Amino acid sequence: MDAAIVGGGIAGLWLANLLHARGYRTVVLEADGIGGSQTLASQGMIHGGLKYALSGNLTGASEAIAGMPERWRRCLAGGGDVDLGGLEPLSDRYYMFATSTALGRLTSFFASRTLRGRIRRLEPPEYPAAFADPAFRGVVYELNDFVLDTPDLLAALLRPVADRVYRHRLLPGEVTPADGGCELRLPGARLRARRLILTAGAGTGALLDHLGIASPRMQLRPLHQVLVRHDYPHPLYAHCLTGIRRPEPRMTITSHRDGDGWLWYLGGQIAGDGVAMSDAELADHARRELAACLPWISWERAGISTLRVDRAEPEQTGGRRPDEAFAAAVGPTVVAWPTKLSLVPDLGDKVLALLDPPRPGPAPRLELPRAGLGRVPWSRP
Ligand SMILES: Cc1cc2nc3c(=O)[nH]c(=O)nc-3n(C[C@H](O)[C@H](O)[C@H](O)COP(=O)(O)OP(=O)(O)OC[C@H]3O[C@@H](n4cnc5c(N)ncnc54)[C@H](O)[C@@H]3O)c2cc1C
Repeated sequence: MDAAIVGGGIAGLWLANLLHARGYRTVVLEADGIGGSQTLASQGMIHGGLKYALSGNLTGASEAIAGMPERWRRCLAGGGDVDLGGLEPLSDRYYMFATSTALGRLTSFFASRTLRGRIRRLEPPEYPAAFADPAFRGVVYELNDFVLDTPDLLAALLRPVADRVYRHRLLPGEVTPADGGCELRLPGARLRARRLILTAGAGTGALLDHLGIASPRMQLRPLHQVLVRHDYPHPLYAHCLTGIRRPEPRMTITSHRDGDGWLWYLGGQIAGDGVAMSDAELADHARRELAACLPWISWERAGISTLRVDRAEPEQTGGRRPDEAFAAAVGPTVVAWPTKLSLVPDLGDKVLALLDPPRPGPAPRLELPRAGLGRVPWSRP
């Protein structure tokens, strides 16, 4: 077998599709439900990094990611790295707004030639429904970014490779080096794989320890996200820039189907600041922030809950946010973290560059149960 992929989040499934289409014989081992950790907890934004440029400068982070929305759009059109034809985004655009028109030097930055084609100030008739309220007197920008429904995305990626995605938590003692590759001792089967590809998200840290891999190392960056259930009828996909004092959106809002209505999911500064807060403190803080950012909507009856989740990434000096996807080969093992959903095409390039050409032959069949799709955190019991 060419490669055993450990972890069935976006990284593992994307790589399984890329490798399958190029003739590699692979299996994916997923401990729980597909997408179960970060991917299904993510906001699903495929973005070009402009939210990292709110200091008014294009940085390494904002530029490495700038081309990703177009690469994803080609996939959605059926012609990109991975065929996602037929997958409909939750929202085809993403927005930025502020309740005042006074955005300081960001106003001229957003209008500058360097950002042409990436951001556009909207006229009131073009506003999404949530801003079409006479009480809103601010400014709205449209970004090139869009939002995917992560369960739909994972289902589309699972379809072509479902017969090789198994439910199994790989235990460190089940892997040993063999003939320049590795041997996996799985229940009912011994497999030889030329490559072991670790896409286990936060689970990769323990596997690195047990495989004796000292570098790369993993870092975890915590978030405390906010879930808002309310009866407001419109979805919203927007960064709030009202009164920002740091180069980061005050609130990053996405909307997800929840029964007959919409659940609003809040990240951005509120989720970073919320790490130091208890659930109840963050719920109170979120209600105040919603009232400040969207004062034309009543938040008194909204039900607010919170969700703690870590981002798993390659270790950076000072625990900084990585700018790019990460893949490195250590002997037969490839260690891979996309670091962002948006950066998965970049991850695919990096992993393919590390692999030898495939060898002909069928993919092995294992006596393990097939892995099914996980559930988004807000629909878990
Ligand atoms: C709250 C939040 C919001 C985010 N929003 C965005 C966004 O809007 N846009 C964006 O671009 N990025 C976003 N991200 C980042 C993005 O979600 C992640 O970078 C991406 O989902 C990571 O995917 P992954 O496949 O590496 O990891 P995961 O999705 O965590 O998948 C890893 C899988 O490995 C499995 N596993 C673990 N250990 C083992 C083992 N020993 N054996 C077998 N399987 C194992 C787990 O069960 C899991 O299913 C967000 C992240 C968070 C936390």
